Amino acid sequence: METVLDINITRVENSKLNDLNLENIPFGKYFSDHMLEAEYENGEWKNIEIKPYQPLIIQPSLAALHYGQSIFEGIKAYKDTNGEGYIFRPYDNFLRFNLSAERMCMPTVPEEIFMDGMKQLVAIDKNWIPFREDHSMYIRPLMFATDVLLGVRPSDTYKFMIILSPSGPYYTTPMKIYVEEKYTRSVKGGAGFSKNAGNYATSMIAAKEAREKGYDQVLWTDAIEHKWLQEVGMMNVMFIIDGVAVTPELSEGTILNGVTRNSVIVMLQEMGIEVQERRLNIDEVVEAYKKGLLQEVFGTGTAATIAPIQELGYGDLRMPFDVSSFKIATALRKQFDDIRYSRIPDTHGWMVKV
Ligand SMILES: *Cc1c(COP(=O)(O)O)cnc(C)c1O
Repeated sequence: METVLDINITRVENSKLNDLNLENIPFGKYFSDHMLEAEYENGEWKNIEIKPYQPLIIQPSLAALHYGQSIFEGIKAYKDTNGEGYIFRPYDNFLRFNLSAERMCMPTVPEEIFMDGMKQLVAIDKNWIPFREDHSMYIRPLMFATDVLLGVRPSDTYKFMIILSPSGPYYTTPMKIYVEEKYTRSVKGGAGFSKNAGNYATSMIAAKEAREKGYDQVLWTDAIEHKWLQEVGMMNVMFIIDGVAVTPELSEGTILNGVTRNSVIVMLQEMGIEVQERRLNIDEVVEAYKKGLLQEVFGTGTAATIAPIQELGYGDLRMPFDVSSFKIATALRKQFDDIRYSRIPDTHGWMVKV
């Protein structure tokens, strides 16, 4: 392993892995032996450390807790049959992390700290990468404000961290999704394109009310008409309408520019399927459904990968789907898994070796 960056490394004496079976684990519940930590102070990043995963000591006045300058990313690492570790498209997450940082008035994180730090951390905890279908090691970079002061202004100090969570599948059954018309996640000029903590805090009530109606998540609509489709929970959304793949466009800045969304668009185009990134209205979706032209609906995201949707609810209208007939989502899922588990050549340069 080449060391590009000067990181102070302290290893655990005994791995917790000896007490854990990676065969059947939930999503995001267990954490590996080590974590990365770096501090931003006086305009520079310093004290870059990999050390045993441990609690943080914070003050009640910590700025992030009060005003929410807090962002994160989600990335996955896999093992191939030779036991080599690979991370899926981490550079795209690095770029998006810094877009989120800029939107939240936070400093950007240098590429060496984010990328080399992540690779070194994953290499140290490589034994924690599960080797099993639907399993992976979820990588969670995060940054938050650490000034201890109650004034509302951008913090002068920050902490950047990376933690690792060996994980099983996020969703185990196809999802039921409710089209949200009451709450708004994001609006033009807002921060919908960024992975900042506040976006998730404000969206939970909609998911909670949807669950009370028997759904798993909501499909967000625009803030003004509640007609133009955005995305689902932590996933982008893709519709197959009369053989064409349609997904909401990014240009309004209201949805996440998903790495999985982009990967799926590339794979669809290689399969010879037309992809349209454009504004998409719920009325068009309902009409296509009624005419029998809405063939498939699925979500795309790092945590859930490609997740078929078995029912869309819009007001009193219920639109069930037979997900076993989803040919495109199934083909995409297979190809995506084959790439990520290194069963076919990585022709796109998506897998970064650790
Ligand atoms: C993370 C996330 C996605 C998916 O992005 P990926 O890069 O594919 O993981 C989509 N929507 C929201 C709101 C997200 O937070």
